[in-house]
Amino acid sequence: MRNHRIQTRAVHGVRSEPLLGSVVTPIFQSSTYAYRGDLDGETVRYLRYSNTPSHDLLHRKLANLEGGEAAIATASGMAAISSALLSVLQAGDRLAVQDSLYGGTASFVDHDLPSLGIAVDKFDARRPDQLAEVVKPTTRAIYTEALSNPLVEVPDHEALIAVAKQHGLVTLIDSTFATPINYRPIAHGYDLVLHSCTKYMNGHNDLVAGAVIGSSERVGTVLDRLKHYGGVLDPHACFLLDRGLKTLALRVAYQNKSATRLAQFLEQHPAVAAVHYPGLESHPDHARGKKWFTGFGGVLTIDLEGGAAAAEKLMGEIQLATAAPSLGGVETLVSRPMCTSHAAMDPEERRDLGISDGMVRISVGVEDTDDLIADFEQALKEVASAVPVAV
Ligand code: PLP
Repeated sequence: MRNHRIQTRAVHGVRSEPLLGSVVTPIFQSSTYAYRGDLDGETVRYLRYSNTPSHDLLHRKLANLEGGEAAIATASGMAAISSALLSVLQAGDRLAVQDSLYGGTASFVDHDLPSLGIAVDKFDARRPDQLAEVVKPTTRAIYTEALSNPLVEVPDHEALIAVAKQHGLVTLIDSTFATPINYRPIAHGYDLVLHSCTKYMNGHNDLVAGAVIGSSERVGTVLDRLKHYGGVLDPHACFLLDRGLKTLALRVAYQNKSATRLAQFLEQHPAVAAVHYPGLESHPDHARGKKWFTGFGGVLTIDLEGGAAAAEKLMGEIQLATAAPSLGGVETLVSRPMCTSHAAMDPEERRDLGISDGMVRISVGVEDTDDLIADFEQALKEVASAVPVAV
């Protein structure tokens, strides 16, 4: 299957013989399996070991899409992130992380890792010189996001990987916002790719799941952790994720285009102070991102002229889009980072990262783009009349 293009591989995965002629991979709803040979650990098939036929086929598809040797599906994105980090780090180690991260990950690295004796150093991911400055003899790994949340900035991946390799560090990336349709980190030198499959990979806002992809050796170590921590994906969720992946390429290609058009519309709207979307040619990261990304995804963030009151008003006036956290699904969602993904952060820390109170994150779904633009147009009209902007 490797010779086929990614859209074909997303549909078929790495096929084995169809079972009883079934075109769709069945759900193997069995927690345990009959011994197949020697009574050693390798031959035991058990759901918590993530080695049922439902898992095997999904893992092969995930590895194939990202261009990795192996993959493991997990019960959530956070299960993928925590198990992967703890497969690499131990007490006494340091981790270098990008300063603006998804809120759940930020909280994990700020609180959970230090409580386990693992120190964390932060760097601006657009400034590789900062990474070089924070690396110490006990630094073991670096952690980035393909596109930052919620400002959708493009880290200087190439230069960061070069610094990491120079110091012999393990490189981990959360590629949730990019998906393998827009960016394939392993081909660029990352060791472990993590996903919240809750978002684009499944794409239907009806599942929580995650994935880790990389070399067989590294993924094997993550699996060892996962067997103990227990955050494995159940067979029905494996089925749903496999089904969602079949349309990944179609969805993301459409979302790339639709988000760009919506960003262009919002960029010229007087109620909008700034649009953060690297797909816009005016965005400072556009040229750099274009070297590695084939598209910039469906998430864009806007700053409203009227601040927090305007953001709150927009959330109430939007009709087609739903005011809800999460992203990457077929339904357009809007959320305020200060109340959702970054609520746990101190206001000053948010401000330092450029996350304003008047910020609204938009996850563009697959609705008709003109309908979406019309929805934002009517909602922004209400915002402008209710929240006059001081000039
Ligand atoms: N990574 C990113 C970039 C996210 O946006 C999220 C959730 O919003 C996660 C990880 C965590 O994923 P999950 O909710 O599936 O645990």
